[in-house]
Amino acid sequence: MSQIPDFADVSRPPGGPLRAPAALPGSALVDRFGRIATNLRISLTDRCNLRCSYCMPAEGTPWCPAGELLTDDEIIRLITVAVRDLGVRQVRFTGGEPLLRRGLERIVAATTSLRTPDGDTPETALTTNGVLLERRATALREAGLRRVNVSLDTLDRARYTRLTRRDRLPEVLAGLRAAAEAGLTPVKINSVLLRGVNEDEAVSLVRWALERGYQPRFIEQMPLGPADVWDRDEMVSAAEILSLLRSELTLTPVHAAVRGAAPAETWIVSDVRSPAGIVPAVGIVASVSRPFCRGCDRTRLTADGQLRTCLFARAETDLRALLRGGASDREIAGVWRGTMWAKQRGHGIDDGEFRRPDRPMSAIGG
Ligand code: SAM
Ligand code: SF4
Repeated sequence: MSQIPDFADVSRPPGGPLRAPAALPGSALVDRFGRIATNLRISLTDRCNLRCSYCMPAEGTPWCPAGELLTDDEIIRLITVAVRDLGVRQVRFTGGEPLLRRGLERIVAATTSLRTPDGDTPETALTTNGVLLERRATALREAGLRRVNVSLDTLDRARYTRLTRRDRLPEVLAGLRAAAEAGLTPVKINSVLLRGVNEDEAVSLVRWALERGYQPRFIEQMPLGPADVWDRDEMVSAAEILSLLRSELTLTPVHAAVRGAAPAETWIVSDVRSPAGIVPAVGIVASVSRPFCRGCDRTRLTADGQLRTCLFARAETDLRALLRGGASDREIAGVWRGTMWAKQRGHGIDDGEFRRPDRPMSAIGG
């Protein structure tokens, strides 16, 4: 099969012979820096029903033609290879907007019916804008989905409409309630703060979320949206978010020193009451100012079947061509290992030579 990249080619780092991953213990997705990817993020579509200003231009992006998107069966096959053969233990469904995918419940059910080599059920989670969540939360839970992250940057309806270019806040709030009622907990809320737009809501978002039993998390804005909307000097940094929160709330770090593969640093908020049994905690994901590349445990698949080692990778490996060219599961697993072996050390946003990936966030899968 000529289109299968030669393993030796993709696994040879600059400067030296290395052991091939096949010689490493087990069948894990190990890279040359010793990281092991156990967490698969899979984008189910590049389309979206919102147009968040930091993610997409108002007119959207050129959507991937339907024939190039992986089918449900192709997605299930790749997840099966990842969980059964490659040591993946967590699968997160994302997009674009993953709730636009009709087969989502079937894909989730197929994923949760898999077992890792240790006999465990893979952990599943969904990242969604929540607009369509209300009517699907129960079915998703029944399909075995464990948790959801819902993106919400403001509680003000007019501001939400400006920021996302769609008037859908009431549906998101209903989706959040439905997710909690369905047991997709802890429900996490992802917020991106933009200077002069919503940074004044940092404290109110935290209070509002914690009082309802949701877990708020702030994500630093990354250079993955329209080219003209990211400015490193204008970005609301993790340090600034922390100081905004500390101006009104008492925060105690949970594991500031050792973050491991968890992207969020977490603080307990002692002056807000959450419902019984829920720890009032807030997270900050400092992807830009305090990158967590050293502990990264992710491998990524786009909706059109391109394997990526990193959100910011500039190279992709075409698993769809392998699938459609008749490759066996073993061949696919080999190429997947080889691609991950060559994963870059870090995203390099703060390096002089940093170049954005060719795809926007919505087409990679955030
Ligand atoms: N549509 C879904 C949603 O909004 O949750 C899933 C896909 S979205 C790309 C995943 C996450 O990426 C969201 O929490 C969103 O806020 C975040 N995001 C999008 N563009 C971003 C950017 N330029 N910087 C940081 N986070 C971004
Ligand atoms: Fe859509 Fe999510 Fe991007 Fe917003 S952040 S435009 S909801 S993909």
